[in-house]
Amino acid sequence: NTSKPSFRRILLKLSGEALAGSDEDKKFGIDAKTLDNVCQEIGRVVKSGTQVAVVIGGGNFFRGISASESGIERATADYIGMLATVMNALAVQQGLKQIGVEARVQSAIPISPVSEPYVRLRALKHLNMGRVVIFAAGTGNPYFTTDTAASLRAAEINADILVKATKVDGVYDKDPVHNADAVRYDQVTYDEVLQQRLNVMDATAIALCRDNNMPMRVLSIGEEGSLMRMAAGEPVGTLITS
Ligand code: UDP
Repeated sequence: NTSKPSFRRILLKLSGEALAGSDEDKKFGIDAKTLDNVCQEIGRVVKSGTQVAVVIGGGNFFRGISASESGIERATADYIGMLATVMNALAVQQGLKQIGVEARVQSAIPISPVSEPYVRLRALKHLNMGRVVIFAAGTGNPYFTTDTAASLRAAEINADILVKATKVDGVYDKDPVHNADAVRYDQVTYDEVLQQRLNVMDATAIALCRDNNMPMRVLSIGEEGSLMRMAAGEPVGTLITS
């Protein structure tokens, strides 16, 4: 395939949940088969000539807010959450390596024996060499989310688009899991997302994308080939614009 890719560079936000299995007893941690599927999807996009940076979540291990509700101090709980994302990042790096895709982890909290620290210019150099860069530890600050880290890094690396890959195949007017009549949007604006409180990302992350004119697509990573179709320019899932 010699056709020019639709996007030069994308930032993929993967929730921690995207690495966990779908069976009730596998919803915690990392499921080997799910991890392999996700890495295959990323690998196809990289091999098609689009640069891919990844921001990985940690919710399959730990979420700061939920932990702080049960008594752990919020900032401490958030640091635990950030460290959870480092575990996921290492797993994705390894999964990509296994299918012949070079990847580097850059952590916003330096953990020198296991990852590079976040250095923007170095990340850009890796991307230009066709390596996947996996950003771990979110923004490095408590009280933020990895969704906000994704909005921030997407802007920093001049990504053409932010892709939020979840278990749901787009943005709906109400929760599609509990409402059979929920309607999926093809396209919405960030202001509509904020005003109608649509469940996409937290308000900080949405505002950052809106103010930096960063387009976003929400799609399901579990739907085989959807990431590749999106990278090829197909209107997969929901497009959100300023
Ligand atoms: N976190 C944080 N600062 C950040 C990013 C993440 O404190 O910049 C913490 C926060 O406690 C969060 C946890 O890391 O709950 C895991 O990240 P997140 O919930 O965003 O993961 P996801 O829902 O995408 O799996």
